[in-house]
Amino acid sequence: MRTANRIANLPPYLFAEIDRKRELKRAQGIDVISLGIGDPDTPTPDHIVDAMATAIRNPANHQYPSYVGAPRYRQACSQWMKTRFDVDVDSNTETLALIGSKEGIAHLFTAFVDPGDYTLVPGAGYPVYYTGGVMVGGETWWMPMTEENGFLADFDSTPPEVLAKAKMMFLSYPNNPTSAVANDEYFDRAIAFAREHDLLIVHDNAYSEIGFDGYVAPSFLQRPGAKDVAIELFSCSKAYNMTGWRVAFACGNATAIKALGTVKSNIDSGVFTAVQDAAIEALTGPQDSIAELNGLYQRRRDLVLEALEKIGIEVPLKPVATIYVWAKVPAGETSASFASRILEEANVIVAAGSAYGPSGEGYVRISLTTPDDRLEMAIERIKNTL
Ligand SMILES: *Cc1c(COP(=O)(O)O)cnc(C)c1O
Repeated sequence: MRTANRIANLPPYLFAEIDRKRELKRAQGIDVISLGIGDPDTPTPDHIVDAMATAIRNPANHQYPSYVGAPRYRQACSQWMKTRFDVDVDSNTETLALIGSKEGIAHLFTAFVDPGDYTLVPGAGYPVYYTGGVMVGGETWWMPMTEENGFLADFDSTPPEVLAKAKMMFLSYPNNPTSAVANDEYFDRAIAFAREHDLLIVHDNAYSEIGFDGYVAPSFLQRPGAKDVAIELFSCSKAYNMTGWRVAFACGNATAIKALGTVKSNIDSGVFTAVQDAAIEALTGPQDSIAELNGLYQRRRDLVLEALEKIGIEVPLKPVATIYVWAKVPAGETSASFASRILEEANVIVAAGSAYGPSGEGYVRISLTTPDDRLEMAIERIKNTL
């Protein structure tokens, strides 16, 4: 049997590799604390679960879903963009249901990238921005992200020969893994750049609802002209503790939405309609759970920052958003050597920054989705190994 080259060309999926190492330790009876993956540890709010319980008993929901999303779900998405961001998107032509943002990101490559075409990818970013390109024979240009540029991906330094073959650019602020946030000026420059080089911007807004100290994230589509060049991805995963449910949406530029919808209709058959009904409840029902969640993560952020400061690990940015702390590795270590030392000696998993792209070298990502007592125990263990 011979598998395709694209499989051999993929790096091991970051979290699959971490999971494998953890299982090896656990098989030896060792208690491993994972601060690796960003997966909310608190449950989906009750009112959303209740909506699902009702929706699953509706026989109409038992048939194939709509490829593009139920009209009522797309209307809820459009309404949410209006009430949350004051952004107008037409529910019919400018929104599309996704089986999680990850699915949308991966399929965008099929819709936009031919073999040899470039995608501009944040120097440290969600791994699928890169692996999605590998899957279709596309090329990746890593946009540098540094402490000096506030971890705002530097698209201006992209060489002309790359730009000549570039189709798509991913941006994501609030940012995973660095926790950086962007300002209007950066978004406006990105829009002008995309217009000049005929690129689709995909703004991945997975963390729009997670903010601290009063920070409220914007939508990329709030910027003038954004809809001419961009789509935005919003996910129920992090905002409503719904990672397991697999529901998100894309919105914005109608041409891009249509292209992605065409790919999807040939590959998947949409989001289970009962899950869409639950997501409608998430988007249109009470929003109190978000403030509660942010209170929880803010407390954990402070706990981690305080502990890291005590043990002399530097954090370049105090996070005002996301569920991550981006920490510098001690001098003389690489991301991978530090992460593996922490796992070997402290039995704590942190994510090596280099796994997110070349700009991630020299950092590790600590996720705040672990209960407080375990988080404290993990930091204590790290302290004892240093
Ligand atoms: C978690 C995450 C996603 C994936 O979200 P799903 O909707 O669960 O697929 C996408 N992008 C970023 C940046 C993320 O951190």
